[in-house]
Amino acid sequence: MSEPNDDLPIIEPEESDKMRCRFCGRLNKIKTHSTNASIRCGRCRLPLSEDPHKKWTNLDPHSYIHPLDSQALSALKKIPGIDTILKKLLEIFHESSARVLFTGNAVRVSEKQCPDLDAKLDVVCATLGIEKPELYVSVTANGGLGFNAFTGGVEKPFIVIYSSLLERLDDMEVLAVLAHEAGHIHAQHLLYKVAADLLFFLSDIILRGSPFAPLAEILSLPVKVALVTWRQKAELSCDRAALLVTQNERVVASTMMKLAGGTLASKLDLDEFIAQAKDFDKKAAEDFLHKFWTTLIAGSMSHPFPVWRVSEIIEWAEKEDGYKRLING
Ligand SMILES: [Zn+2]
Ligand SMILES: [Zn+2]
Repeated sequence: MSEPNDDLPIIEPEESDKMRCRFCGRLNKIKTHSTNASIRCGRCRLPLSEDPHKKWTNLDPHSYIHPLDSQALSALKKIPGIDTILKKLLEIFHESSARVLFTGNAVRVSEKQCPDLDAKLDVVCATLGIEKPELYVSVTANGGLGFNAFTGGVEKPFIVIYSSLLERLDDMEVLAVLAHEAGHIHAQHLLYKVAADLLFFLSDIILRGSPFAPLAEILSLPVKVALVTWRQKAELSCDRAALLVTQNERVVASTMMKLAGGTLASKLDLDEFIAQAKDFDKKAAEDFLHKFWTTLIAGSMSHPFPVWRVSEIIEWAEKEDGYKRLING
């Protein structure tokens, strides 16, 4: 459980009229007879409840990193000279360029700017035990609407969340997205992630005609394949970080459902989507062609299929030596 932050404004109502937020520690004034389900914290806007919220002081990322993530990363690390190649990459594409883009073109979240988002980020950092990164809200991604979020930077990580995503998620789902992104920081993905993101978004042709041309020359095909393969698997570890922070697998699953279904949020049914995920898994196990097309189509996307992410997170939530061991330990 978190300790209340001394700096927070404390409201001092009658003893029976206050409730401590289990996420951010704020003491909230509540109306007597309010039902817990309907009331939210005045600071982080997350639902108030008597349930505990676990925070870790020394969480080892290897306790939740997905085995497919660690396998793909160790394959990547076996490539001779990989560290030199990636260091060279960072030299060329210094993170300052991305920082310029977002400090100039997005809103930086702070205690005064989107304070509930700032409070949610505090909750995420306190739960996973990481230093607080900068957080930006942006309206567009690469000229189009971004229904997504991402984490960049290596020396000084930062998170960007796009407003089209924010507008379609409830407060718990926003917490899940921030926790997923912070998971990339906690699981020490960023060196490889920055390289993989660059490869995904910039084609060779663009690279060759840009100031980053030397990048196209130094990244050989095996490095590219290994980076792109690992990139998707790393997402599964970060979904687990989202579960560790929200402590509710249905929140992670409903976030995936909205990522898949987009604007129809109010008409979506989570149980139907979970059933769809289980059905998809069953078909992939039984039908070769289904599996073939899944591998081919999903392989060209930045993230794994949302239905696969849902099956994976629900399986890990139910595993005795998975989420349960960490939350009860
Ligand atoms: Zn709160
Ligand atoms: Zn991610």
